[in-house]
Amino acid sequence: MYTDLDLLLARLEGRDEQRVEGARDAGEGYDDFLLLSDVLGQAVPAGASATELAETLTVARVECERRRVTKSGKVKSKLSVVGVRCVDCAICLARFKVDQFAVVLPECLHIFHDHCIRSWFRLSRVCPVCRAPTFPEPQAPQRDLLQ
Ligand SMILES: [Zn+2]
Ligand SMILES: [Zn+2]
Repeated sequence: MYTDLDLLLARLEGRDEQRVEGARDAGEGYDDFLLLSDVLGQAVPAGASATELAETLTVARVECERRRVTKSGKVKSKLSVVGVRCVDCAICLARFKVDQFAVVLPECLHIFHDHCIRSWFRLSRVCPVCRAPTFPEPQAPQRDLLQ
């Protein structure tokens, strides 16, 4: 299992690559996010229920589609989850690695780490990248949306 510490470490590694001084703000924002999700998770059922998660999210492993070595000797891998190409997770910003558990959202096919998207869906019901609704609206009035 991944812990919040793993996510934090993933962010710290990313920070080294970018050498951005302002990245500190991003880290603090992430802490706020965790705090917020804790608060919201208890007070307001803003996210998806465990049942909805189980019914909607399909967990699959990250696979290596193709692997090649560049002229400079770097190994570049093309990764995919159930045939959908993926590079990095928009929530933790870490690159996907082979055999990690990931989730492809059914509506928009955006891909996230399993543990990242589950944390996200504790306080939201839409895709964090494109805001595509991932779950049926709660208490949606039975109205004809097509007019
Ligand atoms: Zn992630
Ligand atoms: Zn999306």
